[in-house]
Amino acid sequence: MVKRVNIGIVGVQGAVLEHANIMKKLFSETNTPGEIFIIRDKNQLEKVDGLIIPGGETTTISKILVKTGLYDKILDCIKQKNIAIMGTCAGCVLLSEKISNNDKEIKCLNAMKMHVKRNAFGRQKESFEQEIKIKGFSKPYNAVFIRAPIIEKTYNNCEVLAKIKDKIIMARQDKLLAICFHPELTDDLRIHKYFLDII
Ligand code: GLN
Repeated sequence: MVKRVNIGIVGVQGAVLEHANIMKKLFSETNTPGEIFIIRDKNQLEKVDGLIIPGGETTTISKILVKTGLYDKILDCIKQKNIAIMGTCAGCVLLSEKISNNDKEIKCLNAMKMHVKRNAFGRQKESFEQEIKIKGFSKPYNAVFIRAPIIEKTYNNCEVLAKIKDKIIMARQDKLLAICFHPELTDDLRIHKYFLDII
């Protein structure tokens, strides 16, 4: 029997609906029974098996997570329930242990053994698309970068899944997945499928 999955998407700011849409499409194409919840209240986290932290403005998302108690509850879910989390762009920054250019004193979740740098490819006008190779994917993937961070280093059990030259842009640590680009802004379902398979 196909297992039922409940996916939460942190819905305080950023590319929330785009993730919801691509996830719905994936559920239907893979005949996965599941539900999607836009998470704005910490009590909603009880029912989710996997959580997406979308791209957006890291400073804003971080502040709201702390203020609403979602920050502590997400950490609880990682520790107690070993919940799967995919963080894209700003979400990737928030999963990290350290931001090297943290002039805004953003509070990270400190969940993954990696250091990141925000806006590492330049400003909005330096946003771009590029074909990348992802470990375990048989064909190249067209990745969309918008004011993207890079992962400067990973250590311990945090594994690198993709790079552009020497810059790490995707990493996985057990059930946590950090992605510097925007898989929700393409029609390619493979990254959301990869996440679904982790759950
Ligand atoms: N540069 C943004 C930040 O660190 C993230 C950009 C994004 O999520 N598209 O806040």
